[in-house]
Amino acid sequence: ATFRLPASRFLSIGPISRFASTLVIAEHEGGSIKAPSLSAVEAAKSLDKDNSISMLLAGSGPSLQEAAAYAASCHPSVSKVLVADSDRFMHPLAEPWARLIQLVQQRENFSHIVAASGSFGKNILPRAAALLDVSPVTDVIEISESTKFVRPIYAGNALCTVRYTGAHPCMLTIRSTSFQAQPDSTDSKAHKAPISQVDLSTFEEDTIGKSQYVKLTSQESERPDLGNARIVVTGGRGLKSAENFKMLEKLAEKLGAAVGATRAAVDAGFVPNDLQVGQTGKIVAPELYLAFGVSGAIQHLAGMRDSKVIVAVNKDADAPIFQVADYGLVGDLFEVIPELLEKLPEK
Ligand code: FAD
Repeated sequence: ATFRLPASRFLSIGPISRFASTLVIAEHEGGSIKAPSLSAVEAAKSLDKDNSISMLLAGSGPSLQEAAAYAASCHPSVSKVLVADSDRFMHPLAEPWARLIQLVQQRENFSHIVAASGSFGKNILPRAAALLDVSPVTDVIEISESTKFVRPIYAGNALCTVRYTGAHPCMLTIRSTSFQAQPDSTDSKAHKAPISQVDLSTFEEDTIGKSQYVKLTSQESERPDLGNARIVVTGGRGLKSAENFKMLEKLAEKLGAAVGATRAAVDAGFVPNDLQVGQTGKIVAPELYLAFGVSGAIQHLAGMRDSKVIVAVNKDADAPIFQVADYGLVGDLFEVIPELLEKLPEK
């Protein structure tokens, strides 16, 4: 008879076990698991068919315990929810979060630890990896085996297949646009994974306090979040002013779209930098990406080339954006946008 040890019994030093047990580091807001963390669960699902997936949630208050932990426990692919309830995790500061991951890993011995590649995961996971003495594999867009991953390099101009050969845990950040989660993935009320509280009595405080939470500044908007929107309307330097960007905002309202921008438009002060799409901005892959007055520099393409349908409007027929566009219109955006606004029905 064959006897299979759960991965959590394996020694922490040594090759990745065949039977994956994965910890997903999740972000939550207003009692819900954020969409990129649901994508991290999707990625974890492809690590191993016998994979057991745990989700770590941290923070404090009823929105954590009553709502987010409950939502996580209803996810059909999550087999255990770990909750660290403390004011220390109220804000996503890398120092306490990385220590928390180290503590959880020392107890549970996961084969993989996965987080979405956003500002949350990129901040925390490398520090946690350093504490666990492993190298993280970042920006994974495809998982072919439990140790074989594809990630973009040279601003997305080449794809690199890497094999992780280090000790476990194998730590990954994944691009959420490459592992789309079902929108209702936490709605299945039938499944309820056990929720356990992380014992924080041995939590080490000594290294905490190198960074401090000051404040959160965010734009209140009725429009969908740029990272998850089905339609993105982006403006470049061709828009010429902040005032002209309002035209694009109207168009986005009519289409139920998010507004994006190039770095040139952000640097010129037309829009705030949280709208920037590209290598040093947000990575998006909507169903429809509309680019107005965008030249299509490689750094911009790195953030949007995986969009399903790309439409570009540019007055220069040789603009590189037309090389990736499914539909291109050589024309003046100051004529095209008003015409579109006129023809599209009110929402
Ligand atoms: P431009 O290149 O100036 O293009 C404007 C376009 O508008 C032109 O093609 C023009 O033909 C067209 N146009 C002008 N008027 C009209 C009109 N009336 N009607 C129609 N079309 C018109 N860029 C990003 O976007 N995101 C990033 O994350 C990013 N990261 C970077 C990182 C590094 C390290 C570096 C070096 C650069 C980065 N950049 C990034 C900058 C990038 O190289 C480009 O400079 C930038 O994307 C250009 O923005 P743009 O297309 O708006 O402007």
